[in-house]
Amino acid sequence: MNLSKEIQYVKGVGPNRAELLNRLGIFTLKDLITYYPRAYEDRSKVKNIAECVNGEEALIEAVACGKLSDVRLHGKTMQKLLVKDETGSATITWFNQSYLKSKFKMGEKYKFYGKIINSFGKITMNSPVFDEEEGNFNTGKIIPLYPLTYKLSQNILRRIMENGLLEVEGELKETLPEYILKQYNLEEINEATKKIHFPKELKDFDIARKRFVFEELLSTQLALLQIKNSVMNEQNGIEFSKEAKMSDVINQLPFKLTKAQLRVLEEIDRDMESKKSMNRLLQGDVGSGKTVVAMCAAYKAVKCGYQVAIMAPTAILATQHLENFQKILKNLNIRCELLISGISKKKKEELLERLVNGEIDILIGTHAIIEENVKFKNLGLVVTDEQHRFGVKQRTKIANKGENPDVLVMTATPIPRTLALILYGDLDISIIDELPPNRKKVETFAVKKNMTERVNIFIEKQIKEGHQAYIVCPLVEENEELDLKSVEKLYETYKTQIFPQYKVEYIHGKMKAKEKDLIMERFKSGDIDVLISTTVIEVGVDVPNSNIMVVENAERFGLAQLHQLRGRVGRGEYQSYCILKYEGRSETVKERMQVMCETNDGFVISEKDLELRGSGDFFGTMQHGLPEFKIANLFEDMPILKMVQSLASKIVSEDPKLEKSENALLKELVKDKFMNRIEI
Ligand code: ADP
Ligand code: MG
Repeated sequence: MNLSKEIQYVKGVGPNRAELLNRLGIFTLKDLITYYPRAYEDRSKVKNIAECVNGEEALIEAVACGKLSDVRLHGKTMQKLLVKDETGSATITWFNQSYLKSKFKMGEKYKFYGKIINSFGKITMNSPVFDEEEGNFNTGKIIPLYPLTYKLSQNILRRIMENGLLEVEGELKETLPEYILKQYNLEEINEATKKIHFPKELKDFDIARKRFVFEELLSTQLALLQIKNSVMNEQNGIEFSKEAKMSDVINQLPFKLTKAQLRVLEEIDRDMESKKSMNRLLQGDVGSGKTVVAMCAAYKAVKCGYQVAIMAPTAILATQHLENFQKILKNLNIRCELLISGISKKKKEELLERLVNGEIDILIGTHAIIEENVKFKNLGLVVTDEQHRFGVKQRTKIANKGENPDVLVMTATPIPRTLALILYGDLDISIIDELPPNRKKVETFAVKKNMTERVNIFIEKQIKEGHQAYIVCPLVEENEELDLKSVEKLYETYKTQIFPQYKVEYIHGKMKAKEKDLIMERFKSGDIDVLISTTVIEVGVDVPNSNIMVVENAERFGLAQLHQLRGRVGRGEYQSYCILKYEGRSETVKERMQVMCETNDGFVISEKDLELRGSGDFFGTMQHGLPEFKIANLFEDMPILKMVQSLASKIVSEDPKLEKSENALLKELVKDKFMNRIEI
């Protein structure tokens, strides 16, 4: 058995199918057997024909009462076969499958699995899979369903999988240490591999799955902790001077920093002055004042003769950061510039030239900063302001533009500690857990559709008092199925029917950066009363005069995302409001809305989100940026994640480099993780 054997040489594959399998990320025998099913179909229990219910998928065992016959219908040929068991009869049909004729013999017994149509007691099954009485390829067992690509059918992949599993049967080497298997009651690898693909009973699958989830999470967590350890022990970071004082910036600010901001700045200051490079995550709720923290750190780096890169998720945000930085730092003679993809070629060339010559101190921008041709003279600090998580690889990429620069990662998504540890396990964590004083709580209401008129009257009242409103809708394109309102449509309604007397505009993610910036500028300057928007405003845009936000179809959003959105209002001195319009009666939806109305604390919300969420919407519906796990699901597998984390930290504290013999296998797992295509 050779696990690294190329996939095309596995029985039943060959060069053509190998190409299809490659598209699924399957290149070797090992990739194949670790390609896990996304679901299972239980085709193990035979049903009596008389008991078949309309719409269900069922397995029947029945005798062919005649031959397969062709029936012409609308230019197509349909094949019909009448079958019966002791309880009744059924018609089995296929389309354009004349070749099936040779497969059935009158009087023989077959097993059929497919969807039942029961029309007034007349049972039909269309295009089922089948086996002969003794056969068991398609029926009589629990069948795995794999995530698939075009041109590769479940049947083909299942056959290949069976062949692959035969090759390795009983010969897989255990990848987890004996003591871990015992302590956590995990199944041995050969048994688990067989059962994850072809469970005899559904509970087999749970047991097998637990083992692989455990293994995957443990190796990821250990890998992250290893990165963290190795970075920590390196003494070749920049030692920023104690002489450069962050207080120069603090003294320029029009407000007093909160205790939490000061504490975090101390942590950063200490990191910057030490020999090791800083790798720190700064977590702080929306509006907690992360920007000035970044500014102080940037100032210190510049004062010590280094350049700083600040990376934001959108052009709007980058521009806003630039304005904020310039406001304060121009008094301190620091040169800030903006690099976003919208700027002209000429301007960009000139900017890159000045950057490499060291004539720019702080470069603020979007992903454009990562590009190859962006070169610094001496990059000393990298700050990423994340909407979502950049992977370890991306962080490394930008850090490589300098020699071991310090790295500060900021996130406004408050995440529970367990998640932070697996998403950012390579970083030290600082938390701003306090908002600046005198922030008024955003009053939040959850309402049903029938309240729309009253909501509109309320919005108008705010506009009349000189304020501005955000209306958030979930999608750009009309999707009738989900009944989500498109921005354009919503815009038309508000502009022509609801508020024709006010200035209504819209903004969405598919607009050009320039158009978006223009709209945001106009909104900021008060030229727009009502802004209809998708979640592009989710991230950090600051318009203190807008004090009301209405979210349409709020039930479609994750709580963390709603919280982010809500953070756009309540930035000024006025009372602000957030109105969540929702549909649906489910208890979970109601409870979710209630959480939003009751608390403004992002950490509480994120914990609740985790508790109440149905599917992967923690970071918004897209699950953007979460690391790809082959089998683990961070949310459903939270209990395993917790076990794994305490185990991982115990292992690393007792055996930091995994040198003990009992951990030899773990060392292999971690090595594999680093070498593999898996992104962490
Ligand atoms: P976020 O953490 O969401 O990035 P910002 O840094 O954008 O928050 O800060 C939100 C607003 O609060 C900004 O207008 C900022 O100037 C202001 N701010 C930050 N810190 C304080 C403070 N200590 N006191 C008062 N206002 C502050
Ligand atoms: Mg921010």
